[in-house]
Amino acid sequence: MSEKIFPISQARLEEIIKDYPTPFHIYDEKAIRQNLRRLFAAFSWAPSFREHYAVKAAPNPYLLEIMREEGAGADCSSLAELHLAEMAGITGEKIMLTSNDTPADEFQKALELGAIINLDDISHIDYLEKNAGFPSCMAFRFNPGDCIEGNSIIGQPEEAKYGLTREQLFEAYAKARSKGVKRFGLHTMVISNELHADSFINTARLMFELAVEIKEKLGICLEFTDLGGGIGIPYRPKENAVNLEEVGAGIHQAYQEIIEPAGLGNLAIALELGRAITGPYGYLVSTVLHEKHTYKDYIGLDSCMANLMRPAMYGAYHHIAVVGKENKPCDHVYDVTGSLCENNDKFAIDRRLPKIDIGDRLVMFDTGAHGHAMGFNYNGKLRSAELLLQEDGSIKLIRRAETLDDYFSTLHFPGSKF
Ligand SMILES: *Cc1c(COP(=O)(O)O)cnc(C)c1O
Repeated sequence: MSEKIFPISQARLEEIIKDYPTPFHIYDEKAIRQNLRRLFAAFSWAPSFREHYAVKAAPNPYLLEIMREEGAGADCSSLAELHLAEMAGITGEKIMLTSNDTPADEFQKALELGAIINLDDISHIDYLEKNAGFPSCMAFRFNPGDCIEGNSIIGQPEEAKYGLTREQLFEAYAKARSKGVKRFGLHTMVISNELHADSFINTARLMFELAVEIKEKLGICLEFTDLGGGIGIPYRPKENAVNLEEVGAGIHQAYQEIIEPAGLGNLAIALELGRAITGPYGYLVSTVLHEKHTYKDYIGLDSCMANLMRPAMYGAYHHIAVVGKENKPCDHVYDVTGSLCENNDKFAIDRRLPKIDIGDRLVMFDTGAHGHAMGFNYNGKLRSAELLLQEDGSIKLIRRAETLDDYFSTLHFPGSKF
């Protein structure tokens, strides 16, 4: 069971809304910091442990500053994300570039920042040499093919566009070494939003065995293995959170069994969690604009799938609370919708909720990762503001809401007043 409790009282929320109209995402700084500390503690056994926060989950430099202060780095997969990391003061090997189909300017920026560059394909060695040069530390992304089961979000590894095959991997390390690269890591990411601790422990075993084989066959002692992101969160109240301590202990055991006897005992462990770090600590707050009763009962919000795409895109569940009615019986069944001209713009379908009235505030839970980040402008919808509930209880606007001027700013249309 995971409890869904919004950390702000109804009265305080109304004060906040006076300054910052809905819709907005709000993030709980204290909870994010506590969570990061818990993660670092779960891996304190490792000779070196790194968390490169997956910037794409919540690409806001204020959040990245929190990561930096807690000792985490950044996993970037685009030029903009590299700039965001730099803005937040994350530099050097605290940054890892894990991109795919990578353009030259990303490699160049990563090199300028002194980042670790993680290559998605063997052909990128030549491309990198030609277009940017080599970093001090390089990694390769392993796609285990049919050696491991994926899960439903990320799919079967064999069908995934990412990474190198096993044969290519050995060839790639040898090739990069022959070109003068001396420091290496190994990366994989095969699961997404996974709630079973065993999946991560099994991935670690597979990677550790591979690290040993790389040492035996090529004489290369890897500096780190990066087990990717993908730790899930309990979006549904009946689901349980992944026990980070159990994952840490399970990986520790595999490390003692596989890595230490092979003489690789300095191998660092890296993760690039996004969702599990900020996901549960972000909330989308909206106001009910309309109710509509036709063949079904609809509640229309001032937000839409441009603010939170996961329900429409994956049929994902996001828990909803009606502020001030948390203890009322859920004796109504609603479709909770946004205003986009797409019938799948529904935050919830046939959801049991208390009786809702126009003007009620609705809180959607678990929007702290892949929430605002996935926003878009289809149908002229504008992205919302992002707020930070700071540790002292005060509110900081960390991104203002988009305006029509923003929306039209890329048009050079004669006579436009924008
Ligand atoms: C998206 C992504 C992550 C983060 O995934 P989460 O599910 O948010 O943990 C990490 N690494 C890579 C390469 C990714 O593409």
